[in-house]
Amino acid sequence: QNVLVWFRQDLRVADHGPLHSACQFVKAQAENAGMPSERPAKVYGVFTSTPSQWVSHDIAPIQLDFIERHLNMLATSLAALGIEFKVLHLDWFEELPSALSQLCQQLDIACVFAHSEPEINEIHRDQKVSRTLAEQGIGFELFEGHTLLPPDTVLNQSGKMFRVFTPFSRAWRSQLMNRPAVPLAVPEPVGPRLDVTEPISLDCEKRSSQLWRAGEGEARRLLDEFVHHNLAEYKACRDIPSVDGTSSLSPYLAIGVLSPTQCLAAAMTRFPGALIDDSGEHAGAFTWVTELCWRDFYRHLLVAFPNLSKARNFNELADGIHWRNNAEEFALWCQGKTGYPIVDAAMTQLNQTGWMHNRLRMIVASFLTKHLLIDWRWGERYFRRQLIDGDLAANNGGWQWSAGTGCDAQPYFRIFNPLSQSEKFDPEGKFIRKFLPQLASVPSRKLHTADIVGADLFACELNYSAPIVDHKAARLRALDALSAMKRAP
Ligand code: FAD
Repeated sequence: QNVLVWFRQDLRVADHGPLHSACQFVKAQAENAGMPSERPAKVYGVFTSTPSQWVSHDIAPIQLDFIERHLNMLATSLAALGIEFKVLHLDWFEELPSALSQLCQQLDIACVFAHSEPEINEIHRDQKVSRTLAEQGIGFELFEGHTLLPPDTVLNQSGKMFRVFTPFSRAWRSQLMNRPAVPLAVPEPVGPRLDVTEPISLDCEKRSSQLWRAGEGEARRLLDEFVHHNLAEYKACRDIPSVDGTSSLSPYLAIGVLSPTQCLAAAMTRFPGALIDDSGEHAGAFTWVTELCWRDFYRHLLVAFPNLSKARNFNELADGIHWRNNAEEFALWCQGKTGYPIVDAAMTQLNQTGWMHNRLRMIVASFLTKHLLIDWRWGERYFRRQLIDGDLAANNGGWQWSAGTGCDAQPYFRIFNPLSQSEKFDPEGKFIRKFLPQLASVPSRKLHTADIVGADLFACELNYSAPIVDHKAARLRALDALSAMKRAP
């Protein structure tokens, strides 16, 4: 009997537990086979396309294009291993149990192997698939691999998920110290090389992702380059949006072209102290590993608190906030027309490239939820529909952190000033000018001054609008509205 590997957000052949085990499984069968004439067992791969489900999950057309490009590359990599790759074109998750069990019967599959996923619809999907396959006597085995440590394994002394990041990160680091990150190699071929004939095309809305190079090899190359050339300076450079100070690996991590274990292993090979030493030459790597820890933290939270997948406030006190939800102001924010150059340049970066620097994500999220008092869910959804690295756990975590409604969030009374943020992180306005070329001739200091941004830019007849809110007034309004978050005495 054969084995099926179900690829989801893990479009790679290296460090892929389910693929590795499937190949081991058929090899063991071949070794144990009594009769040399017996047909050797095969490994198949499958991807399930569910466009209506994706639309309901707000997956960005640019991410779907990126996925499509990687599916074609994955088909080629699998063919080289002697593995036939199929795509099941469906529409919704609910069609999956019967479609997969039919496929399994056609291919004479004994067991389906896949990585588990933390989102609630995906968990329910897998439970239903597992039950249906079991009725047919087909196994369904889930593997961990989307995080460095599996959800439900980094717990506090009461055996519960941490609600605060710092103690989580301490426990996470100490567990990882005893469990070195060793990525699995690409499996040996399990059959003769196959031909790939049909290109794979997903039947859904897509937007070109060509700004991003595709492929596992490319992702590896980017990782190695980053580790060798930028990681040492990561701590100093990661907040400056005009320099390539961060890895830009999030698009690859989000769809699993690269695994977090590969990232940690690469960092540790160059900086062996990356898990414990936050000083000297290891400081950059230590800080970067902390970002990988945030990634794990948010995914663990999603499993521990399934309501997060349902767009609920983590902190129930936030249910009492009266959001203004002004649709016109929201449209201006989306279009990058707030009159605050750092916010507008950041939103232009998102709209043009499908990606935004982390510092800017925090600034624009704070601006939307605090200066404009618009519900974080509006911004979260807009991000998700644009981002090439869209990821429910990180996006929800980042938005709730910024809005002050989340787990271990920024307190409601801390409100980013977009002008001092741009002065601090883009002092010469390099980033602002790159994405707002109409401001090219405005002197740097003026870019960070509200009055000038309002009056002078108009006077200069630049194609740029006055601020849609006054910072000081908006701050006071936000403090008042968000005081719903004050803890009861
Ligand atoms: P690096 O700085 O090189 O970090 C390495 C990797 O660690 C990233 O690729 C990413 O996988 C992970 N990571 C880094 N920072 C965080 C973080 N704060 N939380 C969780 N994981 C992190 N990240 C996403 O991958 N998808 C999202 O949809 C997403 N939405 C966000 C929304 C908001 C409002 C905020 C504030 C942050 C969001 N982030 C999201 C986190 C972060 O902004 C991006 O992961 C980061 O900008 C990606 O750039 P990089 O690959 O160069 O990161």
